[in-house]
Amino acid sequence: MKKRLEPAKGTLYVVGTPIGNMGDLSPRAKLLLENVSYIACEDTRHSGLFLNSLGIKATLISYHQHNTKSRIPQFLNFLKEDLSIALISDAGLPLISDPGEELVFATKQKGHDVICIPGPCAATTALVSSGLPSKRFCFEGFLPTKNKERKLRLKKLSQETRTTIIYESPHRIISLLKELSDFCGKQRPIIVTRELTKLHEETIGKTIMDTLDYFETNKPIGEFTLVLGGTKQ
Ligand code: SAM
Repeated sequence: MKKRLEPAKGTLYVVGTPIGNMGDLSPRAKLLLENVSYIACEDTRHSGLFLNSLGIKATLISYHQHNTKSRIPQFLNFLKEDLSIALISDAGLPLISDPGEELVFATKQKGHDVICIPGPCAATTALVSSGLPSKRFCFEGFLPTKNKERKLRLKKLSQETRTTIIYESPHRIISLLKELSDFCGKQRPIIVTRELTKLHEETIGKTIMDTLDYFETNKPIGEFTLVLGGTKQ
């Protein structure tokens, strides 16, 4: 097999970074981050600390939902000048409930290469350790917060036959479980994963009722990903 020289000129790299355990950064990702012309990241302070901990000195440029419009032309100019860019997020895979979709689209539209250096993602990490069917699955990310949209989505979710993965923040998790109980029934299988890849990693429950019981006496702390079983056909 031919070995590709990385970073290639004029290429955007979408780079997966750890979701907790620093040991999960791949050697390929580290090498790329060391050698790329620019690193586009959500938060330069957060990513600066991460890269510092790896001894990587890099030029960081912020890229988030509020500066997408101004940054994309700037990044396209870099690519035109044969420079390389790595896009990272605060944790996990960029574009998965994180910024990047518009940049990747615009980059491809202009004919530049986009290459993913794969890495951890909370959704697939939770799915494959849940014990729920994984042959076919859906990813919902965060549910809409507006009441009408949320109810509509919950109704659709309740009819879904595939396993569904949902992200939720700790302060909303109990109310989400109550909503899921109302829409899907309290015996619907669910696995709530917490702090994946970290020291206090755990999986909670078998059913929605179990998880609600658990949170009666355990305050939700940390990061959560829910894996909801599909309805029976
Ligand atoms: N791009 C990231 C990925 O690839 O997983 C997801 C970013 S999204 C803004 C953050 C959400 O992902 C968190 O609120 C949580 O639901 C989930 N998440 C991230 N890290 C996690 C972890 N270590 N354990 C469980 N869930 C996690």
